[in-house]
Parts: sequence; structure tokens; C-alpha cells
Amino acid sequence: MTEIGHFIDGKHVAGTSGRTSPVYNPATGEIQASVSLASDAELAAAVASAKAAQPKWAATNPQRRARVFINFVNLLNAHMDELATLLSKEHGKTIEDAKGDIVRGLEVCEFVIGIPHLSKSEFTEGAGPNIDMYSLRQPVGIGAGITPFNFPAMIPMWMFAPAIACGNAFILKPSERDPSVPIRLAELMIEAGLPAGILNVVNGDKSAVDAILTHPDISAVSFVGSTPIARYVYGTAAMNGKRAQCFGGAKNHMIIMPDADLDQAANALMGAGYGSAGERCMAISVAVPVGEETANRLIEKLVPMVESLRIGPYTDEKADMGPLVTKEAQTRVRGLIDKGVEEGAKLVVDGRDFKLQGYENGYFVGGCLFDHVTPEMDIYKTEIFGPVLSVVRAKNYEEALDLPMKHEYGNGVAIFTRDGDAARDFASRINIGMVGVNVPIPVPLAYHSFGGWKASSFGDLNQHGTDSIRFWTRTKTVTARWPSGIKSGAEFVMPTMR
Ligand code: NAD
Repeated sequence: MTEIGHFIDGKHVAGTSGRTSPVYNPATGEIQASVSLASDAELAAAVASAKAAQPKWAATNPQRRARVFINFVNLLNAHMDELATLLSKEHGKTIEDAKGDIVRGLEVCEFVIGIPHLSKSEFTEGAGPNIDMYSLRQPVGIGAGITPFNFPAMIPMWMFAPAIACGNAFILKPSERDPSVPIRLAELMIEAGLPAGILNVVNGDKSAVDAILTHPDISAVSFVGSTPIARYVYGTAAMNGKRAQCFGGAKNHMIIMPDADLDQAANALMGAGYGSAGERCMAISVAVPVGEETANRLIEKLVPMVESLRIGPYTDEKADMGPLVTKEAQTRVRGLIDKGVEEGAKLVVDGRDFKLQGYENGYFVGGCLFDHVTPEMDIYKTEIFGPVLSVVRAKNYEEALDLPMKHEYGNGVAIFTRDGDAARDFASRINIGMVGVNVPIPVPLAYHSFGGWKASSFGDLNQHGTDSIRFWTRTKTVTARWPSGIKSGAEFVMPTMR
């Protein structure tokens, strides 16, 4: 069986803690590898390597740093099939979806090729008599990223690309469910010309996370995962004097107005609700048709579509979605569906007993569709993170708007309508970080920033876009006066520009 260790100082390093975790093939339920779980000492070794390498990297001019990313982007494209297969085999998502995961990360690498321009800062000539004032954006030093299982390529690249482009060294602690792609990305970064020690991958669980959060040489922590852990990481990082951006869970609503193109809306719901088996932080898990007639017509369209979802292992090129990531995830999702039935929601498509011949031990759950879900139900309040779409019927626009407004989470939301006025009002009033207008999954591209509101995000700067450059650098402001000759003596009064 494959043993997955760590990647420290440009080399593969075997784990020494004696603790490991199994890595499954979710389509078959077989254990295909074992990943090492790092000890404090192993994390400390990665930090020592980062600390030794970082000053020289920070002093490397930004054009040269950018060239590493030019090479890396080329390598990602050249290795796309290999990376997608590696990813699907551990995560379970389809190969095409795995390519989407990689390409969304690749686009962040393309964005940071602009680092010479992105890291330019401000300058004021003549801020006072003979005084110039300017700001420097300097790397924070050593940054760390803690990532979830559901995007093992994109989310590590969201973090390490801007961090490294800004001149930092980086420690990546990927999800222990699918650690192979992150390690492969680090190898490719070395092949692209990155010096050893600038990107280290330390595999592990809570213990490695705690070692990161308390290590005095790590200045900034980026986290993406579930809300309870995001809250914990944010608090612990702050208590230890680190800046942190921590993203959590979601419950994304899609409002369907009576004037919407219902075929378009139903197709959008299928992709956004069931793609990647619903294991996306931007998946639509709640559909809110406005008016009884809209709801009835929507359900009529959705039922046959959900029933005919093609579910299969990643090797099935025609599959719409694959299995869930682990047995625990499958048990949890099935349990929540049972709960929804007990709570009185109407399960109009029941995928609980889905079985695939030859893959009976895989972690599959068939597509499920609930109608008549209400805000008090657990299936409405909880992030299910599975192929389950809940329909909550709203009487009118205000009632529909109120649902995502009052929900704990605030990651993404969408409205489907032909009415520009309704769309504009919605985008302006909604208290959610990413809004789609006739776009079900409004994930911003790499040159805009990505981030939720409310319990979906802790911290004030988003992933990618110019926010990421701010997060991975700190500002130093210089006030300089160059005397031109004989000057008056000391000044005792607080200088102002009055
Ligand atoms: P998770 O919270 O279980 O794990 C995330 C990371 O935290 C992993 O690296 C894991 O090893 C570590 N971790 C787990 N338990 C820990 C603990 N007790 N203490 C410290 N660290 C711990 O999340 P997951 O199941 O891997 O990912 C799914 C979740 O991530 C969903 O809630 C999803 O919505 C969320 N997510 C959010 C976004 C976003 O942008 N908001 C993006 C992707 C995923």
C-alpha cells in the first residue's frame, strides 16, 4: 500500500510520528493509501526549512517570482490528465469536474503572474515640506494554509499562489482525505523553479493544525473547511498573534421568480445541486420558487431530471456525479435525509437506497429531492453536503428574500428572473458574500475576490483577487524628509498638515 508522507525542503519525507490515516477510493470503499499525520516536530522541521529559504525568496525580484508561476501554469496544463485522475481517485468526483477543480486553481496562478504590478504600492510626493510618504507591501514571512477535502487542487492554489508570489514561504496542511494532489503540486512547483523550502506540505489532522496555530514563526493562517473548525482556527490564530482568514460552511439558496425561464432554472439547479454530489461550498442546496404555480412547475421539471441522474465512479466518463468522500459522509447524509422525512418534508425523489452494480461498497447516495421544506427543519438549517436539494416554497419576493437573509450562513446565493429591477434590488439588499443573477454558482474569477459573509467566513480579507495580495503582505509606511541644507532646529509640537 502507498505510504504518503510529507514534502519538506523540496523533498519527500517519510512520516515519523507513527500516526497515520487511511485514504480510500470512495467508489469502491477500498483503502488505497495511508497518509502520515505529522507531529509537532515534523511541523517544526517544515517551518525551519521555510524560515531558512524565505529571505532570499523575498529578495528575488517580483518578475522572477512571476516566472516560476508561468512555468508552473505550463506544467499544470501538461499534467492535467494525470492530476485529474489522481484527484478523482481519492475524492470520487468525475474526471471533468476534477479538471475544473485544477483549472480554477490554475487561474489563480495566472493571476499572480501579475505580481510585479499587483504588489506596487502608494507614494505621495510632498506630503509636507520636503516630505514624501510611501507604503511598502512586504511579505508576512511564513504563511500556512489548512484546506478541506472537497477542492484538493483549487483551494491549496488559492492560498499558496498569492502567498508565494508575494515573497512568503508557505506550509500547506491539506485534508487527510485526499492528500496526493497537494504533494504533486508541490513537486511541480519545484520543477517550475521554486527554491526548496518555499512550499512545504505537511500532512496531518488536528494535531498538525494546532502545531501551526501555535508556532511562533508562522505569521498568517488561511483556513477553508467547516464552520466550527473555521471559528476555532480563527480564534486560536488570533490568540497567538496571527492574522487569519477562515472560511466555513454554507447553505446556498436559489430564488426562482415567477417570470424566470424555468427550463434554464431547472438545468441550473441540477448542475448546482448535484454536481460533485453536492460536496461544494457553493452548491445550491435550497431552491426557493416564488408562488405556488412556479413551485409546482419547477418540481414537475426537476423530478424526472433527478431520477435520471447518472451516478458512477470517476472512470465512468458519462457520470454526472460520483460517490461521497467517506463512509462517515454517506452515513451522515443518509441520516439527515431520514431526519427530513421524520420532520415532515416530502421526499419526492428518494436516492437513499441507490446501489451500483460492481461498486456495492462505494459511498454512493442517489440524488434526493425534498419538497415542502420549512425553515424550522434540520434539513434546512444544516449544511447537508450531499446530493440533496430542498425546495422551500415562498409566497412572494419578500418572503423569498427573507430566507437567505435569516439563514446562519452567507456564502453564495442566486436569483433567477427576467426582471432587472428585482435582480438589482436583490443584489443590493441580500446579506451574502457572492450573488448570482441567472448564474447558479457565482464563484468569482481569480481577479475578483472570493468570500462569504456571516458564519461562512471569519476575518476580513477574501481569497484571491487583490484581497489576497493584502492578506499575504503587511504594510509599512515610510515618512521621509531629506533636508536640503541648513534647517531650523528641533520641533516640539506634534506635526500636522494644517
Ligand atoms: P473540515 O472542517 O472537516 O476540515 C478542514 C480542515 O480542517 C482539514 O484540513 C482537517 O484536517 C482540519 N480539521 C478537521 N478537524 C479539525 C479539528 N478538530 N481541529 C483542527 N483542524 C481540524 O472540512 P471538510 O469536511 O474537509 O470540508 C467540507 C467543509 O468545508 C464544508 O463545510 C464546506 O462548506 C466547507 N468549505 C467551505 C468553502 C468556502 O469557501 N467557504 C470552500 C470549500 C469547503
